[in-house]
Amino acid sequence: MPELPEVETLRCGLAAEVTGREILDVRVHERRLRWPLVPDFEASLTARRIEAVRRRAKYLLLDLDDGAVWLVHLGMSGTFVVESPVAPRRKHTHVVATLGDGRELRFRDPRRFGFMRVAPESGLDMLHALGVEPLDPAFTATGLYALARRQRRAIKSLLMDQRVVAGLGNIYVSEILFRAGVRPGRRTSRVTRAQAERIVEATQHVLGEAIALRGSSISDYRDEHGETGGFQNTFRVYERAGAPCVRCSTAIRRRIIVGRSSFYCPTCQV
Ligand SMILES: [Zn+2]
Repeated sequence: MPELPEVETLRCGLAAEVTGREILDVRVHERRLRWPLVPDFEASLTARRIEAVRRRAKYLLLDLDDGAVWLVHLGMSGTFVVESPVAPRRKHTHVVATLGDGRELRFRDPRRFGFMRVAPESGLDMLHALGVEPLDPAFTATGLYALARRQRRAIKSLLMDQRVVAGLGNIYVSEILFRAGVRPGRRTSRVTRAQAERIVEATQHVLGEAIALRGSSISDYRDEHGETGGFQNTFRVYERAGAPCVRCSTAIRRRIIVGRSSFYCPTCQV
């Protein structure tokens, strides 16, 4: 599943490709995405110009010249790429927008957990309850520590709660907690101030490194040109159960926490 670094990589690439382009035509080949595309979806995009490409959590937001926003979520397996109109259209390509320069912006999603909406930003209710952006200066150790003190759940569950921190998922939370030296199952009420500081620092470091490597490609993720990312080659704990810890050689453990596989080093993480 694409997480924040993958969506940010895609945002950055798409911004260079589509900013200022007009949308000449939109063709929908499959309306049944996670939520069906509304009947006027094509009309709401046609003849609009894309003014900017932004990101909030794992949502891509394409600002249109009429004030509306084209919101795109990649779901589990979505890709959103700019291609030549003569490039073969791959199976599961559900939405194709022809741009003013003749190229096509193609949304492909074999599993169809992705979705799109076009509306003014105030009408995009999925954005309303989102927590702080983990790369925003507003995500601080002081704030995290204060919140953690008041709760009694696993720190991993808190960091994956989109209402608290928006855009982090299983892969990056696993890697962040390893770097911070904190076990994923540690009760939030027992997280120390120093640990909160290390978690915030590790978040910036891990996400920054992942964005620099153009994200992780563990299943279907591709950037705006259909290329894979490189961060999956640097995983310290994620999907490494039984393998030696890169720091201390202890075997990495796997444990289920709030329904998801969690990976940690029993020596380096407390
Ligand atoms: Zn270790």
